[in-house]
Amino acid sequence: MKIIETVREMEAERARLPGSAGLVPTMGALHEGHLSLVRRARADNDFAVVSIFVNPTQFGPNEDYQSYPRDRERDLALLEAEGVDVVFMPGEEEMYPPGFDEWVEVPGPLTSRLEGVARPGHFRGVATVVARLFRIVRPQRAYFGQKDAQQVRVIRRMVSDLGLPVEIVPMPIVRDADGLALSSRNAYLSPAERRAALVLPRALDLARMMALGWGIREADLLRESLEDYIRQVPQVRLDYVSIADEETLEELHDTIEGPALVLLAARVGSTRLIDNTVIITEGVDVPEALRDVVEDIKAGRSRSST
Ligand code: AMP
Repeated sequence: MKIIETVREMEAERARLPGSAGLVPTMGALHEGHLSLVRRARADNDFAVVSIFVNPTQFGPNEDYQSYPRDRERDLALLEAEGVDVVFMPGEEEMYPPGFDEWVEVPGPLTSRLEGVARPGHFRGVATVVARLFRIVRPQRAYFGQKDAQQVRVIRRMVSDLGLPVEIVPMPIVRDADGLALSSRNAYLSPAERRAALVLPRALDLARMMALGWGIREADLLRESLEDYIRQVPQVRLDYVSIADEETLEELHDTIEGPALVLLAARVGSTRLIDNTVIITEGVDVPEALRDVVEDIKAGRSRSST
């Protein structure tokens, strides 16, 4: 496994690699979520390239750039064990040399909503660093986790706007046994915070159950139910629950017609977590036995046992 730290060497190495390259951009502190992308990149391509770069421009001034977990030796051992061909780990001055001025911005609702509101400038930093990585590594395919659902869509749009010759491959969310989506930031959680954080994947289960099991398709009702559910856990400060069009991320309010994305963001202690799931409601009817119950839920009536 080659470890490359400069742009010039990476470009030279890419020119030597015959065939297709799959790129997995990461910020290190690797876990099974990252490794699932790496395995797929290896399987699909002649070479797998993993980048490790904690990108300062995608962090806000009050975010965790300084304290973001970094463990070079552990990351390299994990990637070596996966049979990765090249690890590109440039320093900040390599990615942003003096006078750097190639900012990439994806305009519109895809970047201005949700994480775009909570983290101003975040997607500009992400798009800029990913575009730069694509120019340096020139991969045929690049792998991104659905964990960062908005990010995948922003990158896809950027690739199509700039006409970059790379296929974006979205990969499913990898979760711990208790349901919490794997994230490098989970390392910040105390045991009690971690237990509280489980309300997020459970809220997504609730959304799937309401939509798929009970046939509830009203976006506003789903959103309010999830908000109520999450707010019951005092250690969790909810940032948003969004029920959005799966492709455009436009917020839905009425009856859900196509696939919808349920996106959550919340702070647990000082750690900000995000999670999401897709719900499909087409062709799902309210089961006969649940009709009255569902009518009551829609009408905001509570049922007391008789
Ligand atoms: P990061 O190091 O957080 O920038 O993540 C690098 C890539 O790994 C991104 O494409 C993430 O979406 C993806 N990723 C992070 N966590 C997970 C997860 N739990 N499951 C699948 N992919 C993930």
